[in-house]
Amino acid sequence: MRRALADLLILKDPGLSNFSDFGLLPPILDALAAEGYDNPTPIQSQAIPQVLAGRDLCGIAQTGTGKTAAFALPILQRLAGETTRTPRGTCRALVLSPTRELASQIAQSFRSYRGRLPLSTAVVFGGVPLGPQQRQLAAGVDILVATPGRLLDLIDRRALELSGIRVLVLDEADRMLDLGFIHALKRIVRLLPKQRQTLLFSATMPKTIAALSEEYLTDPVKVVVTPPATTVERVDQTVTFVPAERKRELLATILRDPDFARVLVFTRTKHGADRVVRHLSQAGIDSAAIHGNKSQPQRERALAGFRAGHTRVLVATDIASRGIDVEGVSHVVNFELPNVPEDYVHRIGRTARAGAAGSAISFCSDEEKPYLRDIEKLTRVAIPALPAPAALRIAASGPPVRLPERPSPPSTRPAPAQPRSRRQRNGPRRPNPASAGNRQRNETADAGSLPAFLRFPRGKSTVHSARS
Ligand code: AMP
Repeated sequence: MRRALADLLILKDPGLSNFSDFGLLPPILDALAAEGYDNPTPIQSQAIPQVLAGRDLCGIAQTGTGKTAAFALPILQRLAGETTRTPRGTCRALVLSPTRELASQIAQSFRSYRGRLPLSTAVVFGGVPLGPQQRQLAAGVDILVATPGRLLDLIDRRALELSGIRVLVLDEADRMLDLGFIHALKRIVRLLPKQRQTLLFSATMPKTIAALSEEYLTDPVKVVVTPPATTVERVDQTVTFVPAERKRELLATILRDPDFARVLVFTRTKHGADRVVRHLSQAGIDSAAIHGNKSQPQRERALAGFRAGHTRVLVATDIASRGIDVEGVSHVVNFELPNVPEDYVHRIGRTARAGAAGSAISFCSDEEKPYLRDIEKLTRVAIPALPAPAALRIAASGPPVRLPERPSPPSTRPAPAQPRSRRQRNGPRRPNPASAGNRQRNETADAGSLPAFLRFPRGKSTVHSARS
């Protein structure tokens, strides 16, 4: 019998505080110790006992909370306890992920957490040849992590059959729906046995996800661990009001501060991401882009370089960034604000991982102020404004300028509004490419010693309201 979500049990107690309290198998406990996990995170302490008991679960949690282990550990425990071998061309646990990056990371987590357990893991996603994936599935796989489109491709080619699935995980379900996977998802679920355990994770709980939970989960436990505001509160956030055509200059300037050790820069579009990389390169700053137009090897290379610290700046679009799990991201820069406020929460959650603190800086043009208002409404946080340097506040048509070379006292005046006609020409989704004049400014701008007000964001003392 299914129950309305509103009636579900919402677990608020802190749960168990030791992995050994869960009764996990020694190889799993050893693997967790090897990973350096001392204690379960809140979602792990709340979800693991319920999932081990066989309950369906609806987890409202975003990446960075430890949700992968929350579903992976009980799945490993369950499959390890079964004596049957996985037949050829089938799998026993299926994890659906919206993006390739997230799928790879989930598969990697399963490999880390299984330790010495003889359980096989495979990951399948689009954009790479089918052959090797077909061959992997032919032998039978215990745990399969997949993106929905490629999974259906493989099913249609008879490389895989789903009737033996015991556990289904829908990870980042809200993003799967955002990406238009609803029909693929429905097709996949129709191929699964009715008798199964289903775990759904979503960062947000819009009506569509509530409906999905009601349809696919049976008597689920609901665990809510990180409402957006909680993560958001751990991030030191600021917004700088700056004309769209001056953003590149501002970005190059702040990136000269060595405190910006590992920086994720977000743009709204793929082309925007490429333009930022090109501009930074002109300004002598190395960066890499990660977005949907890049091939899988390119994405992996960019991510690996960023993770290893070879690339200090990674420029990403929202979709490509989902699930990027890189420790020690010092700053998230919203070069363009997202038009979907939830994306802001996902973006800034890339810093402040696993309890650490982090900084998020948003560049907001006049056209983006409505997006900022939506974000503040969602997060219930008024983001402090940090003035742009005076050199960046001159009218867009002004002459090329050099940024000040000496620290100046913090300005307390908001950025002046830009001429209306210019704003109207620059739609919010498509900031104009830099003019030749701007490019010249970018190349000559030298903030060797950064003005104090550009030392983002060490304090919130320069707070003022510049919002319209
Ligand atoms: P996730 O939300 O699953 O993407 O996990 C976010 C990050 O937290 C990953 O880098 C995990 O390795 C890490 N992590 C997960 N669980 C724990 C834990 N219990 N203790 C320490 N780190 C953890």
